[in-house]
Amino acid sequence: MNHSLTRRGFLRIAGMSGVALLGTREAMSQTPGPAARPADAAPPAAVSVPVAPRLDPKPIPTRSLGRTGVNIPILSLGGMFDTRSAQLYLRQTLAWGVSAWDTADCYENGNSEEGYGRYFQRNPDDRAKVFLTSKSDEHEPKGMANLLQQSLKRLNTTYIDLYLLHGIKTADALTPEVRDWAKSMKAAGSIRHFGFSTHRNMEGLLGNAASLGWIDVVLTSVNYRLLNNRKMLSALDACQKAGVGIIGMKFKGGGPIHPSPEAEERLAAAFVGRGFTLDQAMLKALWEHPAIASVCASMTNFGTMQEYVAAAFDRKTLEAGEFDALRRHALETRGSFCQACGACDAATQGAPVADAMRCLMYENAYGDGRRAREAFRSIPQDLRTRLVRNDWSAVQRCCPNGLPLGQLIADAVERFGV
Ligand code: SF4
Repeated sequence: MNHSLTRRGFLRIAGMSGVALLGTREAMSQTPGPAARPADAAPPAAVSVPVAPRLDPKPIPTRSLGRTGVNIPILSLGGMFDTRSAQLYLRQTLAWGVSAWDTADCYENGNSEEGYGRYFQRNPDDRAKVFLTSKSDEHEPKGMANLLQQSLKRLNTTYIDLYLLHGIKTADALTPEVRDWAKSMKAAGSIRHFGFSTHRNMEGLLGNAASLGWIDVVLTSVNYRLLNNRKMLSALDACQKAGVGIIGMKFKGGGPIHPSPEAEERLAAAFVGRGFTLDQAMLKALWEHPAIASVCASMTNFGTMQEYVAAAFDRKTLEAGEFDALRRHALETRGSFCQACGACDAATQGAPVADAMRCLMYENAYGDGRRAREAFRSIPQDLRTRLVRNDWSAVQRCCPNGLPLGQLIADAVERFGV
């Protein structure tokens, strides 16, 4: 296993094997990717697909995932895309060592799981090479049992390495019944490890995971902004001490308002000298944290995958001045970010304000309107209608980041409809 290959070495190998590493994100995004093809289209002709560099065995560093005893790559593949038409792309991720694949029962209406399942059917020997995560949108045992069977079938596998309650917001979902169900599914061999994912109240839930003793792994929103938050740092520390594995997501720290181009340019300037893109620097900031085993990233085209793999492959760490630049940027653009802290919850009268901010984040920070609309439609309608209100001033006053919530919620309602 050659873990000593440098980023330059990776670039050289990639170049030799016909993979064009393009100079800018804009240019990279033109690389044909799975998301660009219709779901039922045939896989692209081999000539249009970059050739996998022969980097065998795994080139990406791995880390232990809490007390699970499993080592996973520091970069995981987010599965929120239609993987059915991305079979060669999946093979490529594995060739580059991105062997932790994430999905959920609801992603792409099940097509994400179906596509992984299609891959395993065609490449049965690869199943054992993949650390496979899926999630249940049902949070009580009967519904979870049904969804687990559906996921196993779609994924064409007899077991899921990590099964998560999807997107929990409070510890109410972590009941003794759920604990017992997870234990029985492990005993039956249907799942190997159990936990939850969250992008709300993360610090509180990480604390719960650390104290409960039966949560193996948490997939949590975490990014360079949240690493300035003392509560987040101490929750990560508690999880590390308790042996709870942490996988990070939403690593870019995007918010409902996109920071100004000037602010981004100032930040980018801090990394130009060492050749890191902004995304690479943000990934590296998370990889510096010892509690975070892996970062689950959306990589829906070859260019982005190359960029992130190169960052994982390159052992250079951020310097103090670079961390300072991220910290300054986080402070300067604080008013663009919803940290899902829940400080406004009591004033919202049940309106899904933080969820609406997350949908605007997909649209404004990630430029992913389809995902934004999908996420918004997944909010129960009776809750969405609570976003139609004229006066948000009391809620706005609760927000520590000073987000202009009235204006943003009106924007979400207008764009996505209730
Ligand atoms: S108080 Fe502000 S930062 Fe916290 S969840 Fe509400 S909108 Fe987001």
